[in-house]
Amino acid sequence: MSPPRVDLLGGASSGAGGDLAGALPVTAVVEGGRLRALGGLDVEELAERFATPLWVLDRATLVGRMRAYREAFADGEVVYASKALCLRGVLELAEAEGLLVDCATGGELTTAEAAGVAPARIVLHGNNKSAAELDAAVALGVGRIVVDSFSELRRLEAVAAAHGRTVDVHLRVTPGIDAHTHEFVATGQDDSKFGFTLSSGLAHEAAAVVIASEHLRLTGAHCHVGSQVFELEAFTTAARVMLGFLAELAEAHGVVLGELNLGGGLGVVEDPADDPPSLEGYAAAVGGALAAAAAGYGLPTPRLFVEPGRSVVGPAGVTLYRAGTIKPLDGLRTYVSVDGGMSDNPRYALYGAAHPFLPAGAPSREPAAGIPRVPAGTPVTIVGKHCESGDVLAEGATLAADLVEDELLAALGTGAYHHAMASNYNRLGRPAVVLVGDGEAVVLSRAETVADLLAREPSLRRH
Ligand SMILES: *Cc1c(COP(=O)(O)O)cnc(C)c1O
Repeated sequence: MSPPRVDLLGGASSGAGGDLAGALPVTAVVEGGRLRALGGLDVEELAERFATPLWVLDRATLVGRMRAYREAFADGEVVYASKALCLRGVLELAEAEGLLVDCATGGELTTAEAAGVAPARIVLHGNNKSAAELDAAVALGVGRIVVDSFSELRRLEAVAAAHGRTVDVHLRVTPGIDAHTHEFVATGQDDSKFGFTLSSGLAHEAAAVVIASEHLRLTGAHCHVGSQVFELEAFTTAARVMLGFLAELAEAHGVVLGELNLGGGLGVVEDPADDPPSLEGYAAAVGGALAAAAAGYGLPTPRLFVEPGRSVVGPAGVTLYRAGTIKPLDGLRTYVSVDGGMSDNPRYALYGAAHPFLPAGAPSREPAAGIPRVPAGTPVTIVGKHCESGDVLAEGATLAADLVEDELLAALGTGAYHHAMASNYNRLGRPAVVLVGDGEAVVLSRAETVADLLAREPSLRRH
C-alpha cells in the first residue's frame, strides 16, 4: 500500500501540530491543503451524488487494516469488535478477511448472522445480556460467550440446559489496570460495571462456578482495558496479570485455559495531536509479554485473541460536510457551521474528542461580496446545526486552506463510533455510509429520511 498523497500547502497543519497524514485514508489525495479524492473518486462528486453529511469509508484502508491485523497476529485470532461500525457490508468484509466478529447485543448478533459470519466465529459480549439474547446465541451455536456476571452465569446455565448444550465460555476479568484513557472508555479498573474483579477474588469464584457447571465449559479468559489506549504498557501489563490468573486456576483446579482474549483498545489518530503505536509494535509487545509470562509460570502460551474495533475501521472513515454559516466574532472566535453535528458525531460532546478537519473539494471561485472567507491557519470552532451550544465538533482547529461558505469540509478518522453512535436529534436522518475503492462507490447504508422516521409513528388522529 502506498502512503496517501498529501500536499499541505506551505506546510500548514490542521491544528495542534500533529501529523495529518496519519489520519488520512491511504487513497486520500490532498492538494493545496484540500482533500480532493478518496478511493479514486472526486469528493465533490461523492457529495453531490450522495448528499452531505456523508460517511465515506475507504475500502483499501479498511481491508488493509484487517489484513495487517491478521498478519501481525498470525498465530492468534483477530476479532472485529462490531460495535465500532456494525454494518452488514463491514461484517462481510471482516468475515472474508478471516476475522472473527464480536457482538454485544441481539442486534449485532443478527447483523453478523445476516452478513454470513459463521456462528462458531462469533464472540458474544455484554454486561447485561438478556435471557432472550443468550437463548438466541445458544440456539445459533455462537462459538464463545464471554460471561460477565454471576447473574448471567445463572441465566446462561439455564439456557444451555434448556437447549441440552454445553456452551464454551470465556470469563470476563477486570484486571485492575488503569489504561490512562477517558473515564467513559476505561474498562480495566476495579470500579467497573464490566466483568469479575480479579483483586477481590470474584474472578476466581466465577471460574469455580463455571468449572463446576454441567452445561458450561471454561475455555478462556478475557479482559479489555479500555479504548483509545496509546501506552503499550497497559496491554503488556494485562497480558502478565491475566497469565498470573491462568496460573492460579491451573494450580487451584488443574484446568489450563487455552485461550486468552486481551480485548481491543489500540489508539488511532483522532485528535491531531495523537501519536499511536504501530500495529506491529503492538503485536510484538503483547506477544512477547504473553510468551515470557507463560514461560515464567511454566504454562503453555495460550492462543491470543485481540478484539480491535476503532483501530480497524476508524482510519478508513471520513465525514464530508458542507460548510454553512461562518460567523467571525471579533476578539472571540470564528464559528464555522456544518450541515451535521452532534447527531453524526457525538464524540466531542461525550469525550472531548476532536477529529482533524480539512477543507475538501475544489476551491470556489471568488465568493460573492460580503460572504466571509476563513483564511488558512485561522483558528476556528467547528459546530453543527443542532439547537445546543454543546454541539461542537472541534475548537481551535486551523484549516490547511481557505474556507468559504458552501465548500466541503472533511472530518478525518471518523470510521469508528460515529455512525454507530449517531442519533436523530433535531430530526436529522442518519447520513449514508458509502464504501469507495478503485473509482467505485457502493452504499453500505443509505441515508435515513424523515419519511423513515415518520413511518414508525402512527398518528393519534383517527381516520
Ligand atoms: C469496545 C470493545 C472492544 C473494541 O474496542 P476498540 O477501542 O474499538 O478497539 C473490544 N472488546 C470489548 C469487550 C469492547 O467492549
